[in-house]
Parts: sequence; C-alpha cells; structure tokens
Amino acid sequence: MFCGPRGVGKTTCARILAKTINCSNITADTEACNECESCVSFNNGQSLNIFELDAASNNSVEDIRSLVDQVRFAPASGHYKIYIIDEVHMLSSGAFNAFLKTLEEPPPYAIFILATTEKHKIIPTILSRCQIFDFNRIKVEDISKHLQQIAVKENIEADPEALHIIAQKAEGALRDALSIFDQMVTFSGNKVTYKDVINNLNVLDYEYYFRITDQILPGNISSVLLTFNELLNEGFDGHHFIAGLSGHFRDLMVAKDEITLQLLEVTEVVREKYKVQK
Ligand SMILES: [Zn+2]
Repeated sequence: MFCGPRGVGKTTCARILAKTINCSNITADTEACNECESCVSFNNGQSLNIFELDAASNNSVEDIRSLVDQVRFAPASGHYKIYIIDEVHMLSSGAFNAFLKTLEEPPPYAIFILATTEKHKIIPTILSRCQIFDFNRIKVEDISKHLQQIAVKENIEADPEALHIIAQKAEGALRDALSIFDQMVTFSGNKVTYKDVINNLNVLDYEYYFRITDQILPGNISSVLLTFNELLNEGFDGHHFIAGLSGHFRDLMVAKDEITLQLLEVTEVVREKYKVQK
C-alpha cells in the first residue's frame, strides 16, 4: 500500500514497480529493461498483466467482484498479474469485504498495489494485510530543482525565484508544480520571470514584507499605512497580507539563529535578506 498526499507520485511509482516486477530482463540496478516483450507492451499501454482500477469511480461490490473473478486466471504470459487500485479508501465497505478474502490469500501470481491519500480511512483488516509505504510531501527546494532541470531541457530561461514561488504554490505536489509551470510557459513564452509568476499566481511580492517590517521597526506608522494602501490598490486582500506577514515574522524568528536558518524554505537570495533583517 502506497500512502501519501496527492501529486507526490504514488500511482507513478506503482506503475514503475508493476513494470519492473514483470520485466524478464531486469538490469543490474534492478530497473526494467524497456526492451523485453513485457516492457514493450507496457510502454505501449497494451500490457495484459497490469490492471488499473480507479476506486473513486469503481467502488461498488460488483466492481470488486469482477476484479476478483479476473484474479482467478493465471497470466497467459509473464510471471505476475498486477492490480493497481487507486484511491482505495473510496471502496464501499461491502466492496472492502468482498475484497478481503482475495487480499488475504491471493494466488501466487497476483500482486496488488493499493494507493491512497487517506490511510486512516482504510479498515485495519486491510492495513494488516499490506506492506505500507508512506510517501512524503516533496520539499519546495526539490521541486524547484526539478523544474530547473526541465527548464534547461526545454530551453526555457527561468528565474530561480520564479520557480521557487511555483514550487511553494504547489504545496508539495509535483504534479501541481508541473501544471503551474506549464501555464506560466504558455503565458510568458520561454522566459519565466519572478514578476510574471507572482502576477499570474496572485502572490504578494516578498519585498513588501521586508519593506513593511523595515518601516515597523523604527515605528514609522505613516509609511506602514502607505505601503499597506499600495498593496490594497494592487488588488491584494488584507487578510491574505496579514497571514503572509505573520509567516514573515515567523521566518524572521527562525532566522535569529544561524543553525535554524536552514529551515527556511526560501532561495539563497531571500535567505540572505532574512539574515540581514533578523
Ligand atoms: Zn523488460
């Protein structure tokens, strides 16, 4: 069972695992060869041994019964029949029960890979029959590095700051980051700038937080009000700003100590700014 938040690669990993299990010529690094009959048919989307079921839309007892019926037949070619069941927590309780017996005593050629975003909704009898792998949210830094690699491959010039904002907005889901990045490229062509990204995503420029903090520190209330007015005029929501400002204060406190500075999920340039403003 693969558990974890959406967009972190559970189904993708399930597919890679399924392909690798059935590869008849696994490489020395335990990767699928991409050349054998099984790999080729998988890559063409024609594999007869790998089945995917989306439990979000096929969650009835009948759906599971027809799956269980299929499981009875040994694979015609290859070693294993692999069933990937996505969003498994969506199965009805009747469907879960119909599934239990097969999950408990599957035929030796059957492997089930279950994926879910909500492990707590899976009944203990199912959980206890599975090996559980927890997938974590992907770090902002890792997402933005990945976007950077894509940008290079696609000949897109992208500000590190811009990619960072996209990664932040994606909240740990690479899939979301990729689709936002895609939108940005559609909008700005092969040059993705920080300004364009914050305008498009309606993100407040972090400069505002630094500036307003610089004005608060000496008690320069008039300037604070003018800056606040400026950002309201730009169409930003006051509540949104306050939430962002409190996040900024939190980051400043974290920046007080060199050791905790690494906890800030920001780019190098911004980290330097925090170091100065703390
Ligand atoms: Zn292969």
